Amino acid sequence: MVAKINADACTSCGSCIGECPACAISLNDNDVSFVVEDKCNDCGVCLYVCVHGAITIV
Ligand code: SF4
Ligand code: SF4
Repeated sequence: MVAKINADACTSCGSCIGECPACAISLNDNDVSFVVEDKCNDCGVCLYVCVHGAITIV
């Protein structure tokens, strides 16, 4: 299981990027966050950080 970010819901606030302990979240060329799946350890921190509900773990 890894974190997935819904690009339509992401506001590019950047909060999740700084909070991910695995440094697994980055911004793409459109300034929308995405998860580097090889780095994600399924910890779930980003789920609570994103107040926009853009992140799920699937
Ligand atoms: S915290 Fe949520 S809205 Fe903000 S950049 Fe991350 S996924 Fe996007
Ligand atoms: S689940 Fe944890 S490791 Fe994976 S992207 Fe979210 S904060 Fe980072």
